[in-house]
Amino acid sequence: MRRFLAAFSFPLFLSFAGLYILFAGLTFARAAKVSGGGLDSLIWPISGSSTPDTPAISSPFGPRWQASQSRYDYHPGIDIAAPQDTPIHAITDGVVSELGWLSNSAGLAIVVYHPSLDLYSAYLHLSRTATGLTLHQPVTQGQVIGYVGNSGTTDFMHLHFEIRLTATGYPTSTRNPLGYLPRPDVTTPTLSIAQLQSDPVYSPTVSLSITVPRAELDLNQIRVLLQDRATGNVLDDRFVDFNRRLHTGSDTLDQDGIRLRPAHFHTATQEYTITANFYDLHGFDSFTLTAQATDLGGHTATVTATAGDLTPPAPVTTLTAQGRADGGVDLRWIAPGDSDFVGTAASYDIRYAGVPINSFTWLSAVKVANSPAPLAGGQAQTMTLSGPLPTPAYFALKASDNEGNVSLLSNSAQVVWTVFVPVVRR
Ligand SMILES: [Zn+2]
Repeated sequence: MRRFLAAFSFPLFLSFAGLYILFAGLTFARAAKVSGGGLDSLIWPISGSSTPDTPAISSPFGPRWQASQSRYDYHPGIDIAAPQDTPIHAITDGVVSELGWLSNSAGLAIVVYHPSLDLYSAYLHLSRTATGLTLHQPVTQGQVIGYVGNSGTTDFMHLHFEIRLTATGYPTSTRNPLGYLPRPDVTTPTLSIAQLQSDPVYSPTVSLSITVPRAELDLNQIRVLLQDRATGNVLDDRFVDFNRRLHTGSDTLDQDGIRLRPAHFHTATQEYTITANFYDLHGFDSFTLTAQATDLGGHTATVTATAGDLTPPAPVTTLTAQGRADGGVDLRWIAPGDSDFVGTAASYDIRYAGVPINSFTWLSAVKVANSPAPLAGGQAQTMTLSGPLPTPAYFALKASDNEGNVSLLSNSAQVVWTVFVPVVRR
């Protein structure tokens, strides 16, 4: 498999046991759409125009790892780096709904209600508000309402900008501002499966690496879908929605079997990379996994991987063969599993010969017809064979799983006859 993968240059790590992966990567972009590209009627708060402030965004909307504080949080806005006292513009007409020192984290801040859109824009960490600006005062689009600072919980000069759908319910009322502010939306995130593991085999884990260019920090959803490889049945379907925060709960590093490892800019490429880890996925040991990353404009990157079981059933070491009065034989053994002792194997190959069975004599041994279906691993299993059989007779078996993995040969069991032969009187 390594050779196969290398030949196709697929960036996978095979550092796990018992699985192989067939990998197909696919990235496609739908035609660029206006939706997700923002509202042309709005302006950006720093440029004061339709020119995006995105090159200066130091922290995008959504989950992030706060390296300076060694904790995970969910960033409810975008941070736009700018020198102290850079003017901040109202993104459209509105009314000042909050003004002043809003909290120790927000610092000096302004919230503006925009009746035409029925939403709020929020401007945090200001150095000062515009002279004369008061609560409930109307503001017009482009009006300078305040100046960039680092008041509140911040360690550098920037504007923290938010879109809030409602005045309350913060921060779940926030939405990604890049879905509202005008901007080109043409690229597709890139997505790759960094690792697909299954340990134990019944709970796969997949690690995804998603990259978006700095110009479009609009990653919106990451999803993984796990399907039974044989039937196509959906075994698990998980996603994290950056915009709507559907994975409700506290902002912890591990949540609902999803771990996000945001995120950092590559200074060389100006790209932003998030690692998403979906763990304890429910499924078999043979499955097809589809991962998707979607941006606000609906551009979707998709990768699929197929993983199958390489672990055969454990070899049977408990086989016994007991002769019957009718000349037949009762075989008994403990069933192995699908993978070692786990699960249920798919079939048996049971054979007998007139000599002890080893890997060589196995080849010429006689295969028994109508082998029973394997029971679950660990269960006692029996089979009765009718004669005639060679004397002496030896039995052995192998078990296979549904992936075609075949166990090692069992012990060779010689038939033990409980003697019913009548004593011949002379
Ligand atoms: Zn911020």
